[in-house]
Amino acid sequence: MSDFELDFQDTETAFSDKTDAELKEKYRLFKMLNSPFLNSIGTRIAKFALSAGLPVKGMIKSTIFEQFCGGETIDECNRVIEKLGGSGIGTILDYAIEGKTKEAEFDATKDEIIRTIERAKDDPNIPFSVFKVTGIAPLGTLERLSAKKRLDAKSQAKAERIHSRFEEICRHAYSVQQPILIDAEYSWHQDAVDRMATEMMEKFNRETPIVFNTIQLYRNDRLQYLRNARKEASKNGYWYGAKLVRGAYMEVERERAQEKGYQSPIHPDKASTDEDYNAAVEYCLKHLGEMAFVNGTHNEDSAMLLARRMSELGLPEDHPRIFFSQLYGMGDNISYALAKRGYNVSKYVPYGPVEDAVPYLIRRAEENTSAAGHMSRQLEMITRELKRRKLA
Ligand SMILES: Cc1cc2nc3c(=O)[nH]c(=O)nc-3n(C[C@H](O)[C@H](O)[C@H](O)COP(=O)(O)OP(=O)(O)OC[C@H]3O[C@@H](n4cnc5c(N)ncnc54)[C@H](O)[C@@H]3O)c2cc1C
Repeated sequence: MSDFELDFQDTETAFSDKTDAELKEKYRLFKMLNSPFLNSIGTRIAKFALSAGLPVKGMIKSTIFEQFCGGETIDECNRVIEKLGGSGIGTILDYAIEGKTKEAEFDATKDEIIRTIERAKDDPNIPFSVFKVTGIAPLGTLERLSAKKRLDAKSQAKAERIHSRFEEICRHAYSVQQPILIDAEYSWHQDAVDRMATEMMEKFNRETPIVFNTIQLYRNDRLQYLRNARKEASKNGYWYGAKLVRGAYMEVERERAQEKGYQSPIHPDKASTDEDYNAAVEYCLKHLGEMAFVNGTHNEDSAMLLARRMSELGLPEDHPRIFFSQLYGMGDNISYALAKRGYNVSKYVPYGPVEDAVPYLIRRAEENTSAAGHMSRQLEMITRELKRRKLA
């Protein structure tokens, strides 16, 4: 494309695969999410009802779950995979399971992640697989490993099992040449994740970028981390794979730092996070010859920045090492507009049992209270499209 042209305000494109009825349903849900009162009552009721064993699963599944998740199983996600694929958007199957504690459960999650890789391997509609290390590891062990604490024999055995699950997932991805993203976690778990991610890149990114680690730019040390990690990769002859995000756990990070009396690792304000995020995008572009990266954001300026810079640098929209990604049910104005113009764009599609997806859904619902107010932005876009279709 010679003329750079990208419109994130184009609601016709953003909701092109939604019927009138689907759009109205989306409106009702986002209207509720957008009300702090209803939102907080709703999430509290959902938490209580599920823990009390009340029969609310069907209701959750047909409302908020349906908006943000692909289904309860991989097979149930097929409809969403095809629908997104029809609009040129890839799916990243994200097994949404959290809070498990038993070794057998970690093994089961690891097996499920491998099934997502198997599902993805021959499907051009699934460009990446993904996993969260906290789904395959006891949190205490991850924390001790990150703090480089001496491990007793029991913890050592657990650490070895974490490593072997981590490696099995990455090895499998490599064996079928399926790129895989490793999500980023709380800072006190992240060092262990980084070390294993680096080790896997060193093993499996020799020929092409397969393993991608996540860089949270709300942390004040991560831009430098990215630079060092990329240099290390070049020096040792492997591709560096990065997924750039701002970071999801700002409040928890700050509270813990204050409680424990250490300097918060998070930037003091949004502007500094944005500055590092955009600098990271520039950095990745500059070193494109040695790395691949995913721009994981719902921020229109950050998505626009990358698209614009690609155009200025004369890079094709479908450059094989530049990817954009959003979460299913969020940032559709960005995903659909980018896809229409031929950029590589995909969406995380969480799936799993409704009960297990609730913490994820609550996070999405609570994002409404965050400064950026993504929900009100979404609601505004939906309202505009309803008007355009003369439905409101
Ligand atoms: C595809 C994808 C994958 C993701 N994977 C991960 C992951 O692996 N790990 C993870 O932690 N998150 C992940 N996220 C979530 C991400 O980190 C952000 O929380 C979310 O996308 C919102 O940031 P934004 O860039 O979209 O938008 P924006 O609305 O522009 O940014 C909001 C973000 O800015 C930062 N921020 C807000 N206020 C302040 C402040 N006062 N001071 C400093 N910083 C501030 C916070 O990080 C906040 O989440 C992912 C998001 C996407 C789209």
